[in-house]
Amino acid sequence: MDRKMKVQLDGNLESQGLARAVAAAYLAEMDPTMDELTEVKTAVSEAVSNVAIHAYPGTACGDMILEFARLAQDTIMIKVTDKGVGIENIARAMEPLFTTDEGEMCSGMGFTVMESFMDKIRVDSSPGSGTTVTMIKKLDTYYGI
Ligand code: ATP
Ligand code: MG
Repeated sequence: MDRKMKVQLDGNLESQGLARAVAAAYLAEMDPTMDELTEVKTAVSEAVSNVAIHAYPGTACGDMILEFARLAQDTIMIKVTDKGVGIENIARAMEPLFTTDEGEMCSGMGFTVMESFMDKIRVDSSPGSGTTVTMIKKLDTYYGI
């Protein structure tokens, strides 16, 4: 089972609505529940906002790639990749309430939200070359094709 989809977007906050819509479109034929749809859109939103806020500091704005695939009929895999600054300490970045944001915009809960709404999260990153967040979720009730 495959059904791959790959979308390239600007790595800024203006892409967030489009990223949510694209995730919803991909999920649609799997006939998700409203809860599942909301959970996936929210997790994608968090990963996308991380690219927009953290990956490309200052006025720089690179791209991000969203990849969707099915690992099984009822299981999706979503990857969000950037070529930004990367994360030095991944384990620490994933701790609840950890943020490198010095203003009051971020609460350090993005990865925690992704972890609670998806079944599995994996972060691959190296400083200077970028970050990939991989998320997997099995839909509970599968009626799609
Ligand atoms: P919130 O998501 O609650 O607004 P946050 O973005 O700081 O706050 P997380 O989403 O959990 O919290 O991310 C934790 C930290 O990981 C960030 O503060 C940032 O330092 C780092 N980080 C996350 N994603 C990226 C990325 N794509 N590129 C570089 N650093 C990142
Ligand atoms: Mg975040």
